[in-house]
Parts: sequence; C-alpha cells; structure tokens
Amino acid sequence: MSAIRPVRGTHDLIGEDQRRHAHVVETARRVTALYGFEEWTTPVFEETGVFSRSLGDTSDVVSKEMYTFEDRGGDSLTLRPEGTAAICRALVTNGLTQSLPQKVFYTGPMFRYERPQKGRYRQFHQIGAELIGPGEPIADAEAIAMGRDVLAALGIMDNVVLELNTLGDAESRSVWREALVAYFSDFRDRLSEDSRNRLERNPLRILDSKAPEDRELLADAPMLAASLNDASRRFWDDLRDGLQMFGVAYTENPRIVRGLDYYSHTAFEFVTTNLGTQGTVLAGGRYDGLVAEMGGPQTPAIGWAGGIERLAMLLETTPPVRQPVAVIPVGEVAQEAAVRALSALRAGGVRTEMAYRGNLKKRMERANKTNASHVVIIGETEVASGTVQLRNLATGLQDEVAATALVQAVRQSGEVSA
Ligand code: ATP
Ligand code: MG
Repeated sequence: MSAIRPVRGTHDLIGEDQRRHAHVVETARRVTALYGFEEWTTPVFEETGVFSRSLGDTSDVVSKEMYTFEDRGGDSLTLRPEGTAAICRALVTNGLTQSLPQKVFYTGPMFRYERPQKGRYRQFHQIGAELIGPGEPIADAEAIAMGRDVLAALGIMDNVVLELNTLGDAESRSVWREALVAYFSDFRDRLSEDSRNRLERNPLRILDSKAPEDRELLADAPMLAASLNDASRRFWDDLRDGLQMFGVAYTENPRIVRGLDYYSHTAFEFVTTNLGTQGTVLAGGRYDGLVAEMGGPQTPAIGWAGGIERLAMLLETTPPVRQPVAVIPVGEVAQEAAVRALSALRAGGVRTEMAYRGNLKKRMERANKTNASHVVIIGETEVASGTVQLRNLATGLQDEVAATALVQAVRQSGEVSA
C-alpha cells in the first residue's frame, strides 16, 4: 500500500501557520465591521453555472482552473474558485435585491487547479468584501480605503502599493477591444496559444497573460485611455478625487485588467514586491453586470478579495500565544482540589492546563515547556488548609493564597499575557 499524502497544492494549517491565518481573518473581520460590513457564509460548492456564466469562459479560472464534478444525482457542481459570484447568487436567491445596499464580508477556502508554487495553491483561502447597490465612484473609493485599512491593520502597508486602473464602461471597452484586436492581429504568430484563442473571443484577457511571449508585446499595445467616453472619464476622475478624500495613495497602472470578465470602471490591485510574481495580495473592482447575470435586477457593485496565505506570509511577527497557568497536584489526594482550581481559573478567563500524570518534577518540566507564566501547586497540606501555592515563574516568587482567592491572585501577580 502506498503512503497517504496530502493532495498536491493543499496544505495543513498548524501552529504558527494557523495563528497567522486566524490573525488575518480576525483583523479583516474587525476592520470591515468598522465600515458597516456584515459577514455572510455561502456553500463551498455551487451549481457550475454560477461560475461559468459569470466569470467568462475565456478567463483562466473557467477555461482551465475549476474543480467541476458530477454528483451522484447527475448535477454538475463546482468547488468555488472565488467568492463574488457566490455572494451575488446568494443575494438573488435570498430575495435581498431590494434591500440595498448590502455590505458583505466573507472568508473561506477557494479551489483552483493551478500549478502549485510559493503563494499559489489549489486550495487557498480568501478574505473578501462586496459593496452591492451603490454605483457612485465614492463607493469604490470607500471600498478601496477599507482594503487599505485591512492591510494597514496587518502592519504590511509599508511594503505594498496600490495600483489603479479604469476599464471604462461597456461602450468604451468595445472601442478599445477593436483597437486591441487590430494591434495583436499583426503579431498573431508571436502570441501564446492561449492568447491566440483569446484574440477573437476576449482580447482584453491578453493583457492579463503571464506568458513571457505575450508580455513582450504588451508594452506597445493600445491603451484604454484613448477610448474612454465622457461618462467613463468622469467616473475615473471622481474615483481619484474620492481616493484623495479617503487619503489613499495609489499609482496608475493601465495594464491592470483583472483575471475575470465581470469588471467595469474601477480595477485595482494591492501589490507587494516581497513575494515575487505572486505579489498581488488583495485585488478587486467594480462589477455592475454580475447580479443581473444571476437572474436579479441590474445592480451595481464593487468588491475585492485578498489571498490569506500571501497576507500571512507578509506578517512581520507571529501573533503571540497566551501563556498558560499550570496546575500541579502533588499526590492523589490533591486531584480534586486541583480540578477545582483548574475550573475556577478557566471560568475567570485564564488559560489553564493540568498534566494528566507525573510527579512534581515532571510536571514542573512540562509547565516550563508550555511556557507557563505561573504554576499552582497543591499538596496534602494545601488541601487540608484550603490554600494553594502560587509561583510566578518569571520572578520565582511563591505565595500561599486561599483557594477561593486564586483567580484574583493570579491576575495581581503579574500580567498573564493576552
Ligand atoms: P493571480 O494573478 O495571482 O493569479 P488572480 O487575479 O487570479 O491572481 P483573484 O481572483 O483576484 O486572483 O483573487 C484575489 C487574491 O486571491 C489574489 O490577489 C491572491 O492574493 C489570491 N489568490 C488567487 N489565486 C490564488 C492561489 N491559487 N493561491 C493562493 N492565493 C491565490
Ligand atoms: Mg489567477
């Protein structure tokens, strides 16, 4: 029998990895709540149509990255590759399209069949936010400011820049599209095979290509700016004014088109130089057509998603583990009093542990190994007098305290680090 191994591109979160991961999620949850966002949780799989209809069939995700399978009832299901389409599906199927705006935070695993490498996995995790309803550019500015605040709260804004672009409205994009087709058609033979396919179907996609032969041709490709109509130009100006008001710094990058088809107007990426080509840590844009695609009314929306693994790697420090208090019974007679002390400390909000076996020496060693701040020693004498010995391991000072006063004594005897 061959050994069991984890599936390629998946990873377990244990110890420091899990603590970093949880810190990213908790920070994002806290910051988005300050902006009035509420958390939604949607299923990990959806009908395949939820994604294939919305993300665009020439996008990398739909054309080659989805985990799609037929279930036992013959339905085609897909493990979600991203969150936005599922949130829009949930908005529509829960009858919330008339209760706008909806400000949604979500987090969870996503699945894409990609080539695994540092910062790129087949099961990865995202935090995400969707602001559904408002079509005003100030909403885009606020959503981006919220993303910036999440990164700042994680302490990584020093190594991250915001790259900003506009994709204009549908009319502007169709003029641009023609210019792109004309340009790339001249270099048809030099394009990657994927991009040759994209040329007729979705030439914008070529701009997002990671193939080196495509990237060489991008430098001289026509820019959208030349094709922007008046309304799109005004939106773009108002967005940048809004960012100024929210105090968000950015650089303009006309190459940002985003990997999925549903975007219009605003497109942005927070990028770090610390992670090589996997440098985009949080990205998003405006997607005014997606709710309608799910069968709802035409509804404007703006959102973003951040890759938790990439964010966790950028954290400068690992969130600390709370130091425990170790309770040590000496002899069978002290067991019951020890359990009482254990329960009282936990009820008082103190992280407390008790080993299941061993003499005083073994248990002291174990307490040191778990980095305990205090030990509570209870022997025959203490049981008889209703007291305990409380020792602060940092100072070495030991006091006899009444069992009933233990929680208070621990608190007073020095910071139990939170
Ligand atoms: P990339 O250009 O790196 O492939 P993307 O445009 O496909 O990213 P989005 O769909 O916008 O990414 O997802 C938002 C964020 O989720 C990305 O910026 C990244 O941080 C993270 N992410 C995307 N795909 C993966 C993956 N396979 N593994 C780990 N993180 C990922
Ligand atoms: Mg991708």
